[in-house]
Amino acid sequence: MKSDFPIDNKPELRNCPFCGNEAYLIGLFVPYDDDEINEYQVGCEECGIHFNQSWEYDAIVDLWNGEYYKNEQKTEKEIY
Ligand SMILES: [Zn+2]
Repeated sequence: MKSDFPIDNKPELRNCPFCGNEAYLIGLFVPYDDDEINEYQVGCEECGIHFNQSWEYDAIVDLWNGEYYKNEQKTEKEIY
């Protein structure tokens, strides 16, 4: 996945909940009136699912990582 602009301090992303592939986070320039807005997109290239958010990526990263994954992570730690 190609990013239109570099993203500093990329947050950690969980792998795709559907196929287990690595998730991506990219920044896109989206035309808006005579201007453009910065849009962030998190998702899985393999499955074609993604979330978009303008200007920030905190909400979509939270959404992607989610409480479900936090619980899963805890379970994994208990197993290993
Ligand atoms: Zn996937």
